[in-house]
Amino acid sequence: MTNPRFDFDLFVIGGGSGGVRAARMAAAAGVRVGLAECSALGGTCVNVGCIPKKLYSFAAGYATAFKEAGGYGWKLPQVREALDWDHLKAGRAKEITRLNGIYQDLLVRSGVVLLPGHACFEGAHVVVVDGRRYTAERVLVATGGTPRVPGIAGHQHAVISDAMFDLDSLPDRLVVVGGGYIACEFASIFSGLGSHVTLVHRRQHLLADFDEDAAHFLQRELAASGVDIRTDTEVTALERRCEGGRLLATLSDGSVLDAATVLYAIGRIPRTEGLGLESAGVKLDAAGAIVVDAHYCSSAPSIYAVGDVSSRKQLTPVATAEAMVVVDRLYGDGARRVNYEFIPTAVFTHPQLASCGYGEREARARFGAGNIVVYSSDFKALRHSMSGRNERTFVKLLVNRVDDRVVGLHMVGDEAGEIVQGFAVAMNAGATKAHFDATIGVHPSVAEEFVTLRTPKAP
Ligand code: FAD
Ligand code: NDP
Repeated sequence: MTNPRFDFDLFVIGGGSGGVRAARMAAAAGVRVGLAECSALGGTCVNVGCIPKKLYSFAAGYATAFKEAGGYGWKLPQVREALDWDHLKAGRAKEITRLNGIYQDLLVRSGVVLLPGHACFEGAHVVVVDGRRYTAERVLVATGGTPRVPGIAGHQHAVISDAMFDLDSLPDRLVVVGGGYIACEFASIFSGLGSHVTLVHRRQHLLADFDEDAAHFLQRELAASGVDIRTDTEVTALERRCEGGRLLATLSDGSVLDAATVLYAIGRIPRTEGLGLESAGVKLDAAGAIVVDAHYCSSAPSIYAVGDVSSRKQLTPVATAEAMVVVDRLYGDGARRVNYEFIPTAVFTHPQLASCGYGEREARARFGAGNIVVYSSDFKALRHSMSGRNERTFVKLLVNRVDDRVVGLHMVGDEAGEIVQGFAVAMNAGATKAHFDATIGVHPSVAEEFVTLRTPKAP
C-alpha cells in the first residue's frame, strides 16, 4: 500500500475534528501519515468550540437550577455573588489541556508523525511546514473555518467567540450580534452566568436554518429568560469611550448600548488563506470553500478536503464522519457513506433546541406541501409545576403522508440534545409514525410526548 517515492502516503493538514480522525484511522490501516497542526491539537471543537462552550453551558445551568431549587424547598444564597469566573476559566483550561494531551497520545500511539507548524502547498504533492518540505502521495485538507469579521466602523473593538472563554472578567453588560448557533448559545450562556445580555439580530427571527415553529418558540423562551432580543436591527458603529474603557454600540434604530464586551457571531468562513491551494490546482467555490466531489476529492486528484473547510454542515460529527469516509475509500473497502438527510443537531441554549431531519418549510418543499402531516405540542413540564418557573417545552413531528415516515423531529426543552440523539437513530433506520405510536413511553418524562402525539395540526 505504501509508496516509497513519497515521505508520507497521507499528509493531513489540520489537527482538528476531521484531521485527527482521518490521521488515526489511516495510521491504523498501516498507512504512513504525517499531520501538521499550527495551533493546539483538537481544533475548534476542543479548544474554542463545542467542549468549552458546553462546559460554560453547564455552569450557566446551575444558575437556573439554583433559582428552581427554592420551589423545592432549598434555601440558597444569591447566584450573582457566588460565581467565581476565574475558577470557571481555570477549570475549563485544565480540562482542555487534558484533552489536548489525549489527542496527542492517540495520534502518537497510532504511529502518526506530528509536525507542529503552519502548512502550505508547493504543488499537489509537496507540503511545506514552517520551512521544511514533505512529499505525500495524497493530502487531506482539514483546516476548518474562521469567524467572519464585520465591516462596520470600530469592528476592532468587538471580539469573536474564541475570546469569550478567557475574558478578564465576566462582562456586566454583553452585546451579542448575530442570530445563529453561536449568538444564541453565548447570549443564553452569559445571561445564565449573570451578564445582562442584549442580542442584536438583523432579521425578525433567530435561527433561520431551523424549523420556524421551533426557532420562534426558542426565541420567546430566551426573551422570557431575560435575554434582551433586538430584531430587525443592526449595529452600525462601535466606539470605545477611552483606552481599555467601555464600549458604545450604535444601533440602526438610533439607540446606543453601553457594554463591557461586544461579541460578533455572524458565521464562519472556510480557512484556506495562506495554504497555497492555487499551486496545487485546488478550486474554491464562491463562499471560499474547497470544492469536492461525492468522495471529498478536490479538483486536484490527490487532494481531499473534509469538515468546515469544504463544508456542507459545520458540525464536529460531520467532519469526523467525512474523514472516515475518505480513509475508508482510500485504504478500506469504500463502503462508508455520510447520510446528510437526518443529521441531529442541538443549539445549547437554556432551554435547548434540537432537531433531526427537515423543518416544516423544507419538508413541504421536498416531499410536496400536501404530503406533510404536522403534529406538535407545547406544554409545561412536570418539573416546573414546583420550580416556580413558567418555562415551556415544545415538540414537533413532521410525517410524510406517502410512506408514513417521520421526516422531521424538533424539540425545545431541557436536554433536547440528549433526547433527539435517540430519536435520530430511529429516523435514520426509517421509523414511521406507526412505529412512534406503537412505542411505549418512559413515564413520567418529557420525551414520552413524542410517542403520544395523536392529533395532527389542521392543514
Ligand atoms: P477544526 O476543528 O477547526 O480544525 C482545523 C485545524 O486546522 C485547527 O486546529 C487549525 O489550527 C488547523 N489549521 C488551520 N490551518 C492550518 C495550516 N495551514 N497548517 C496547519 N494547521 C492548520 N459543532 C458541533 O457539532 N457541536 C457543537 O456544540 C459545536 N459548538 C461550537 C461552538 C463554537 C463556539 C464554534 C466556533 C464551533 C462549534 N461547533 C460545534 C463547530 C465545530 O467546532 C466544527 O464544525 C469542527 O471543529 C470542524 O472540524 P474541522 O476538522 O473541519 O476543523
Ligand atoms: P450561523 O451560520 O449559525 O449564523 C450566522 C448568523 O449571523 C445568522 O443569523 C446570520 O443572519 C448572521 N449574519 C451573517 N452575516 C451578518 C452580518 N454581516 N451582520 C449581521 N449578522 C450577520 O453562524 P455562527 O457564527 O453562529 O456559527 C458558525 C457555525 O458553527 C454554525 O453554522 C454551526 O454549524 C457551527 N456551530 C455549531 C454549534 C452546535 O452544534 N451547537 C454551536 C456553534 C457553532 P442571516 O440569517 O441574516 O444571514
